[in-house]
Amino acid sequence: MTSPLRILALGGLGEIGMNCMVMEIDDEIIVIDCGILFSDLDHFGVEFVIPDFAWLVERKDKVRAIILTHGHEDHIGALPFLLKSGIRAPLYATHFTSLMIRKRLDEYGLMDSVDMNIIRAREKVELGKFSFTPESVNHSIVDAVALLIDTPLGRVIHTGDFKIDPTPFYGSMMDLSRFKKAGEEGVLLLLSDSTNVERCEHSMSESRIYERFEALFAAAEGLTVVAMFASNVARMGQILEIASKLGKKVILSGRSMEANSRLAVEAGYLKEYQSVLISLDDLHLRDRKDVIVISSGSQAEQGAALLRMAQGEHKQIQLGKGDLVLMSSRYIPGNEKAIGRMINQLFKQGAEVLYEAVHDIHASGHATKPELKQMIEAVNPRYFVPIHGEYRHLVHHARLAGECGLAEDRRVVAVNGDILEITPDSIRVAEKIEEPRVLVEGREGNDVSKLVLKDRRQLGEKGVVFSLLVRNRDSRRIIAGPDIIARGLASEQVESWLLEEAKNRVRHLVQEHELQMATTGVEPDLQENIRIELRRFFLANLGKKPTVMPIILDL
Ligand SMILES: [Zn+2]
Repeated sequence: MTSPLRILALGGLGEIGMNCMVMEIDDEIIVIDCGILFSDLDHFGVEFVIPDFAWLVERKDKVRAIILTHGHEDHIGALPFLLKSGIRAPLYATHFTSLMIRKRLDEYGLMDSVDMNIIRAREKVELGKFSFTPESVNHSIVDAVALLIDTPLGRVIHTGDFKIDPTPFYGSMMDLSRFKKAGEEGVLLLLSDSTNVERCEHSMSESRIYERFEALFAAAEGLTVVAMFASNVARMGQILEIASKLGKKVILSGRSMEANSRLAVEAGYLKEYQSVLISLDDLHLRDRKDVIVISSGSQAEQGAALLRMAQGEHKQIQLGKGDLVLMSSRYIPGNEKAIGRMINQLFKQGAEVLYEAVHDIHASGHATKPELKQMIEAVNPRYFVPIHGEYRHLVHHARLAGECGLAEDRRVVAVNGDILEITPDSIRVAEKIEEPRVLVEGREGNDVSKLVLKDRRQLGEKGVVFSLLVRNRDSRRIIAGPDIIARGLASEQVESWLLEEAKNRVRHLVQEHELQMATTGVEPDLQENIRIELRRFFLANLGKKPTVMPIILDL
C-alpha cells in the first residue's frame, strides 16, 4: 500500500505572507517557498516573522528540494534562515527568481553554499517520489510559476501567487488550458492563492495602468514620483516605455530599485530602455516636468526615499506645488497608518498625491473571485485546500470551491501547523504541530522570544523604576540610598512628586526591616519587598504597574 501524502504549511495559511509549504511522502520531502511576514510589531523591535523550521530540521536528511514559485519576499525572504538552520537541499527557481534569491543570499554570504537549479516553464524536474512541472502564471513579478506536482498518489497543483491577466506587460495570459488538461487527467489536490478572494470584480490588467500613467505623465506640470515595489519589473518597464515615448527621463530612487533593475536587465528585461535612465545627480539639469522618479518606500518604511521626500529631508528631491506622487502599490496590512501619515506629509509639501483609494493606478497581482473560480473549475480537483490568505480568506475560498461543486468533505480549511494526510480517497488533519513561527529582529535574524516581547511591551507601555540602595556586606545595614530613578512613567511634574513619595516608602520599608532583623535575627527579602511595595504604590497613584527593578549593592 502506498503511504499517504502529508502536507504541512509552516506559513501562509492564516496570514498573508511567510509562505512555506512542506510535502512529504515516506522518506522524501519537498519544500515550496520560504518567505517572511512583515511584522506589525515593529515598534517592539520585531522586524519580521519567519517560519519555525524545527519540524523540518528534525527531518533534514529527507529534504530533496526547495522550490520557489517567484521572487517576492514573502516567498523567498526566509531562505537565509532555512539554510542557516542547517537544511541543505538543491534550490529550484526560474531565472529572475533565482537572481532575486542570489541577491538575498549574497547579503548573508550564503550563495556559495547552495545548489541553484534554474527551471523553465513546462520543463519537468524529476526528484524521486516527487516530480514537478512549472507553469507560467501572471503575477506582479516576472517569471512567476505554478507547480504541477506528480506524486505516487496523484497530481497536486500549487498555484503559487497568480492572477489571470489577458494583457500583461511582459509575456502573455497564463494558459488555463494547461490546468484544464491536468484536470481532465485527474488532479488529487488543488492548493490555490486566496489573497483577493473577497474582491468580486475581475482583477485589473497590468497594462491598463499604461494609459493612466501615459495621460498623467503627459500632463505633468512638475516632477512625477511613482512609488511602487522594487520587484515589479513589468511596472518599471511600462514607466520606462511611456517615458521614452514622451521624450522624458527616468530616475531610479532607492537602492532596491537600482539593484532590481540590474537583475531585470540580467534576466533579459528593461534592456531597451537604458537610455531613458538618468542619475539623480542630474535632476537639477532637467526641466522637472520631463522627469519621472521611480521610488521605493511605498510602505512608508523608515529611511526610504519617499518618506524622506515627504518629511522634506531628501537631499536632492524637494517636492512642491505642481509635483505629483503616484502611490502605485498595495498597502501591506499593518502599514496603513504609517502610509496615511506619509501621504498627509506629501500633501503638506504641496505635492498632489494619487493613491489607490481614489485612483486606479495600481493593479493587484492576485486573482479575484471570478478568476479563482475559473481556476477551480479548470482543475476540478478531488480535494481543495485554500492557501495564501488570512483565515477569513481561506474560509471564503473554500466556500467558493463549494459553489463550484466540491462537497464539504473534499475541501479543508487548514492553518499553519496542521499536518494534512491525503490518500486517493480521503483528506484529514492527522496531526498538529505548535504554531510554527519565529519573531526576528536585526539582520542576523536574532529571534525575539515571547517573554522578551512581553517585557518590551511592559516597558513601553508602563515605564520602569529603579530603586537603588547600598548595604554593608558585614553588618547587613543600609548605608546609602534610597535613590529612585524612573523612565517613561509620567509627566516630569507628576514624576518628581511620585519619586519623592516612593523614596519615603522605601525608607520606611528599610527601617521596618532593620527593626525586624534586630529583634528576630532573620533577614527579610528586602529586594522583593521593595518590588511589591513600589508596584502597589504606583498602581494606586498612577493606575498602572511599571517594571520595578530594586537594586541593592553590597559593599
Ligand atoms: Zn507574490
